[in-house]
Amino acid sequence: MAAGWQDVVQDAAAVREAAAVAVDAALLAGVLMRTGEQPHASDVVNYAPFTLLPSAVPQDLFEQAYAVQQDFNLLVDAISQNKEFLEQTLASTIKVDDFTARLFRIYMQVLEEGLAQTVFLGINRSDYMFDCGPDGSAALRQIEINTIAASFGGLTSRTTDVHRLVLKVLGKTEEASQLLSNNPAKGLALGIAKAWQLYGAVVMFLVEEVQRNIFDQRCVENELWNRNIRVVRKRFRDVFEQGSLDASRRLFMDGQEVAVVYYREGYVPQVYDQQNWEARLLLERSRAVKCPDIATQLAGTKKVQQELCRPGMLEKLLPGRPEAIARIRATFAGLYSLDEGEEGDRIAATAIADPDRFVLKPQREGGGNNLYGEELREVLEKIKDSPERTSYILMDKIRPQPALNYLLRAHSPLQVSECISELGIFGVYVRQGQQLVMNKAAGHLLRTKAVEHADGGVAAGVAVLDTPYLV
Ligand code: ADP
Ligand code: MG
Repeated sequence: MAAGWQDVVQDAAAVREAAAVAVDAALLAGVLMRTGEQPHASDVVNYAPFTLLPSAVPQDLFEQAYAVQQDFNLLVDAISQNKEFLEQTLASTIKVDDFTARLFRIYMQVLEEGLAQTVFLGINRSDYMFDCGPDGSAALRQIEINTIAASFGGLTSRTTDVHRLVLKVLGKTEEASQLLSNNPAKGLALGIAKAWQLYGAVVMFLVEEVQRNIFDQRCVENELWNRNIRVVRKRFRDVFEQGSLDASRRLFMDGQEVAVVYYREGYVPQVYDQQNWEARLLLERSRAVKCPDIATQLAGTKKVQQELCRPGMLEKLLPGRPEAIARIRATFAGLYSLDEGEEGDRIAATAIADPDRFVLKPQREGGGNNLYGEELREVLEKIKDSPERTSYILMDKIRPQPALNYLLRAHSPLQVSECISELGIFGVYVRQGQQLVMNKAAGHLLRTKAVEHADGGVAAGVAVLDTPYLV
């Protein structure tokens, strides 16, 4: 994959000038984050970290990722309605992973009571890396699909203009004109608006206690206000204090009915104390459109991803859709179950012997949880004969071709880094009863990090926002 910017990367004076322009452009465009020191208010803000230069992305793989997104929307929606599949797939995991077990208990409780919800809204982001083969060819490989709180669709709607300006400043006007427009914030808002329209009442963003990434959410929120849709921001503890259901399980917050609950919180165990679990249960029991409902959150677990890889599994979940299945399967990397038994024993031994071939993943989201190399070997060595190993899955490690870039971060020196990128495609769908009324790809997100970091996203302080430059 051609890096493309060799000439400018080495020109220190040009880079310094372009970086100054870039930072001001990002601030003007609203590529913002609250600071680590003052995460509770917007008096002091900074630019969200981003690359100086857009990164090369192979056009064919970019198009492949867009082309499969509606298929992934269908698949996630199908899994979320398939109790037998979720039960079987998560049976071993919930014995050892308390967080997944608690989510699963709510799922079962809601099903037993009978679903009050009739309109379903999914917003997901399927993430990929470009695996570089021995002959230099690149292949699209899915890293994971995020079915809850997939972020940065807002801020990334504003990075393209910044990179266009940078390229112009660097004398690359022709290349600047080739950057694709991208507006996931609008795409996500249109999905929320559709669900809202089918229900009425207000939209509630379920947000974190500490909202450093508030501007990303505001981008989506303001798209809704622009359409005269009322949005309220509430935390789990507000739901605990103010939330109630009426006899037909309509959700009210302080007397105001809620149509859509858009979770930007709720995917890590640390946020749940007893009250917050009760709040989550209340929301799930309600008639309101949860984005996602708890079944769809479970559909996004690493264990589900691994089971999808088994021969015949996609055929069971998407009967009569061989073309969609072929597109989906073409993006899969090798994924392996560590369940107890011979199959798990064999792959555990292989990974201990050759840890650099794999990534060891627990059932967690948000970056920084996976294990690599020596650490992978040590952990697997320790748990290989215990049921604890079933809380993890193994995945083939993807090896993208690095390229040089500058990662712009507030208070950090300007230095060139060897970088790799991860492409995310946002998907949005709405289902009313059994009828799919929207199914779309809603834009993309490119995140780039220095090669020395094996793991971690933008919020974790490792990756930065980027824009694809198609080659
Ligand atoms: P999370 O839910 O924490 O985001 P991911 O599966 O996305 O978990 O992994 C986090 C990060 O680890 C990814 O953004 C990517 O940088 C890296 N990573 C994950 N899986 C692989 C893999 N198979 N090969 C190489 N890097 C990976
Ligand atoms: Mg991820």
